[in-house]
Amino acid sequence: MILHGTQEIDQHGVLTIGGCRATDLAARFGTPLYVLDEACFRDNCRRYLAASRAAYENSDVAFASKALMTSAVVRICDEEDLWLDVASPGELLTAQRVAYPMSRTLYHGNNKSLEEIRLAVKAGVGLIVVDWLGELEQIEQVGAEAGREVPILLRLAPGVDPDTHHAIRTGQPDTKFGLSIQGEAADAGVAAALALPHVQLLGYHSHVGSQLLDLEAHAEAVVEMVQFAGRMAGKHGYSPAILNIGGGLGIRYTEKDRPPSFEEFHDQLVRTLTEQLRITGLEPPKLLQEPGRSLVGEAGTTLYTVGAIKHLDLPEGLQRLYVSVDGGLSDNPRPQMYGAVYECALANRMNDHADTECRIAGAHCETDTLIASAQLPMPRPGDLLAVPCTGAYCYSMASNYNRFQRPAMVLVNQGQADVIVERESPEDVIRMDRIPERFRSVEDTGKHA
Ligand code: PLP
Repeated sequence: MILHGTQEIDQHGVLTIGGCRATDLAARFGTPLYVLDEACFRDNCRRYLAASRAAYENSDVAFASKALMTSAVVRICDEEDLWLDVASPGELLTAQRVAYPMSRTLYHGNNKSLEEIRLAVKAGVGLIVVDWLGELEQIEQVGAEAGREVPILLRLAPGVDPDTHHAIRTGQPDTKFGLSIQGEAADAGVAAALALPHVQLLGYHSHVGSQLLDLEAHAEAVVEMVQFAGRMAGKHGYSPAILNIGGGLGIRYTEKDRPPSFEEFHDQLVRTLTEQLRITGLEPPKLLQEPGRSLVGEAGTTLYTVGAIKHLDLPEGLQRLYVSVDGGLSDNPRPQMYGAVYECALANRMNDHADTECRIAGAHCETDTLIASAQLPMPRPGDLLAVPCTGAYCYSMASNYNRFQRPAMVLVNQGQADVIVERESPEDVIRMDRIPERFRSVEDTGKHA
């Protein structure tokens, strides 16, 4: 297993994160447990922003909160001077509850309701990212009601098809997101936005995909966006003040994944941007980005307790060792959704020889393989399994499947561990259930627990 962030192995062969022994965390908070390495997360935020500003001074970085949103995480983003990308009333409310500066917040969504737009405008978000032409009319209506101009970016569909899982590709021609720049939609969007009195067009946005391990898709998107901006400058006399190129930089889930460093990524991105600005003669806009995974992914580790272990003799002399843990699909749907591949280790036996090939299975009522092929010391019930790189799109995509309770999350730093999300209780899981009054009462049925 690659050690990320502050992960170390102590003299007893136990994994430590943020100076906390994984075994102590599991004993104190239970498993499954999301562990968030504060120093790693903060360091990523700082290095990403610094790399962006070193390459292009007039730049800012928003954290894509869909990757991981909790109140404490949002506070960290604020302290690290990031902007925040939100995409639902729930994400907006979380930001508001911790008094996140709304002027540094962007509101996303490909199907915002009028009510959502009202909420975002009332909250005073810095930018609404407009996804389709009808939304411009909605924003005009809400802006008129509020008696002010609403600052927006137009989301462009640049027609760039990145090399990643199909479910996290967004910039290709056949996409539900944004206004196509190959067709008429984006041009029509610019014309409409400029004509509407309560819409203030500040620039363009695009996000082509996620977990991108090469630099090409971003570079192609920048070319398409700036070329489009150049055409619009010629046609409508409009130059963007902001260019937001989204998020998408990949992380090192396994040894095989080799993402570019933050510096390499920005050097290439800004080289392309500067070249295109020179060709089109546009004034350099502010550069905005909204990474999620690359800031928080490697800062998260999930701890599970090993339970059932089964040895199977399969046809043709094959053998399989199934090692079941106390979580799975409900706390990390990515293996099922995207065929995502993770590494793992026994956090209580980091120095034992990893000589056993096993399949890590979840505890749910389907074949929720967490890791198809893992190399571990022969596992025993009660061992602690650590799965790193679960900071992004795990808690935020978690469910109550099988009515499992969502795990707690602890923030670890310099030997201190603080709960930032409580473990759900069984009562939490049934809290929203209602039984129609016309049903017979439990007393009537004569059935008591
Ligand atoms: N911006 C938008 C519009 C997105 O849809 C996403 C992810 O889906 C992101 C930013 C963040 O992407 P990533 O976590 O890959 O950086």
